[in-house]
Amino acid sequence: MSKENPNRNKEKQSKKNGMLITLIMVLIVLIVGLGIFFMMNTQKKDENTLAYTDLIKELSYGNIEKIEMTTGSTTVKVKMKNIEEEKTSIVPEVESFMSLVQTKVAEGNEIELTQKPKSILAQIPSAIITFLPTAIMLALFIMIFKMQGLGEKGKVYDDTERKTKIKFDDVAGLDEEKEEMIEIVEFLKRPEKFTKMGARVPKGVLLYGKPGTGKTLIAKAIAGEADVPFISMSGSEFIEMFAGLGASRVRKLFEKARKLAPCIVFIDEIDAIGSRRTSNNGAETENNQTLNQLLVEMDGFSSEETIIVLAATNRPEMLDKALLRPGRFDRQITIPTPDLKGRLEILKIHSKDKKLSDQVNLESIAEDTAGFTGAELENILNEAAIIATKNKHEDIENDDIEEAVKKVTVGLEKRGRVYSEKDKKLTAYHEAGHAVVSKYLPTQTDVKEVSIIPRGVAGGYTMYKSDEDKYYISKTEMQEKLIALLGGRAAEKLVLDDISTGASNDIEVATKIARDMVTKYGMSDNLGPIDFQGKEPYEIQMFGENIGDKIGAEVKELIDTAYHDAISLLQQHRDKLDKIAEALLEKEKINEEDFKKFFEV
Ligand code: ADP
Ligand code: MG
Ligand code: ZN
Repeated sequence: MSKENPNRNKEKQSKKNGMLITLIMVLIVLIVGLGIFFMMNTQKKDENTLAYTDLIKELSYGNIEKIEMTTGSTTVKVKMKNIEEEKTSIVPEVESFMSLVQTKVAEGNEIELTQKPKSILAQIPSAIITFLPTAIMLALFIMIFKMQGLGEKGKVYDDTERKTKIKFDDVAGLDEEKEEMIEIVEFLKRPEKFTKMGARVPKGVLLYGKPGTGKTLIAKAIAGEADVPFISMSGSEFIEMFAGLGASRVRKLFEKARKLAPCIVFIDEIDAIGSRRTSNNGAETENNQTLNQLLVEMDGFSSEETIIVLAATNRPEMLDKALLRPGRFDRQITIPTPDLKGRLEILKIHSKDKKLSDQVNLESIAEDTAGFTGAELENILNEAAIIATKNKHEDIENDDIEEAVKKVTVGLEKRGRVYSEKDKKLTAYHEAGHAVVSKYLPTQTDVKEVSIIPRGVAGGYTMYKSDEDKYYISKTEMQEKLIALLGGRAAEKLVLDDISTGASNDIEVATKIARDMVTKYGMSDNLGPIDFQGKEPYEIQMFGENIGDKIGAEVKELIDTAYHDAISLLQQHRDKLDKIAEALLEKEKINEEDFKKFFEV
């Protein structure tokens, strides 16, 4: 019975929206005039567009080679590695996009960024400039149009009606997760079997997991296994949308789903629309409308309408609790980062179409990549293929893969970068500091390589052997990790009596670990096992007015202690520190074996 209300609401809203749409259409017809002709010529077909979310994704995978921006335009041209033709993408917020690109560049991604002047319009006779406002208006309407899903039919949801060929076999590891999904596949294939039995079948399944762990892949595989259409959209598309559009888009999505049922609706990054409803400022109210519409839709369809909504997020704690109620996303599945066996399987799947040398040992690569996601592993194999091509190898060799792992983790080696003797010495001591300190910390893994050849933004790096897969990390281990991280800064201070900006990343990581220790893992004796993380100030204040100060003091205490421990370890082993720094200045790189030799007496 509770279904009636939402439905009526929906109708009301859709009428309202219908009027809005008519209004817009009339306006467009009025304004178009000459403008449309003008626009038709400039507006390129968008077969080659890249959704903003995909652009961000490709950027994070390091797949972007070139970006061309035009002053004052939100359309950018993108050239991806491995893909010949350039794609265009619309960037909702140029400034934040630019800063994202800049951080990527700073991280060592080689992205060629060009900025074109404002467009030829400026050089064209003034007659045309008078059309400019019209053109802009028009562009705006076209944008609204597209977002409304009225523009080119069927183009709005890219994956619509396209059945995916992805099967469970394409998803490596995740055996238990797939097991859970089989039931959903069965239901999509033979819903009557379940309903006859009176079973209430899940409407929504939430997939939790880090980016790149295969959430989208597994959602597509469910659709592929059940041989039903896969309709998708991403929550981030709604950010900065015009008022009301988010909700109307959700409604359209489900309208389509009803037509295509049985089918899978996939909502990626659901946290972008489904984050907790707290305040009522502009942006949030918009989110609320979208979220409310989603809830209405999910409550609205009956269990006979075989639509299963899958949603993915990496920030489950952000989600509005209303989404998790029975009849909505009442099932949650965590997609973990792959364990050793999973990584090996993923490497196997993605090396099928690659020319690997016989001497490549996938097992040992799997061992060296604890903590890597499926997407990262895939990326490594892809990079390895590129590196092998550059090196003119017959096939992909172990070296190519090792270089790819480094490229993905630390960034590209930059032998060409010149830096002063003084900087070199600083880097050598900094890296030697990390390495020596870790050598004397029982919980820390062995050093695999120390180098002062710049890579990415790092002037040098110390690589450790990969940890075996672990579920728990002890307090001692975290404390020692802090010491190892601060070993670089400590060596600078001790030897050069000056400190540099080179330690900023170490400090960032150390601060996060220390904060987690206190606020998430309850490892502070003074504050006890209480979760302070992600809480509103008022929620924390029940532990006392000054609780913020106390947390800060505890975090500082952890960092201070670790820094002092690092200094005193280095004082004790100053001879090793000097020797290793000298060796680095001479050879630039020390491998595992040579490093161990310094400690053999
Ligand atoms: P998410 O949606 O969790 O961010 P995706 O499903 O988009 O991750 O994964 C990105 C890519 O990484 C996939 O297209 C696939 O190539 C690879 N990948 C991730 N996990 C797996 C896996 N378990 N098996 C095989 N490939 C995987
Ligand atoms: Mg995804
Ligand atoms: Zn460092």
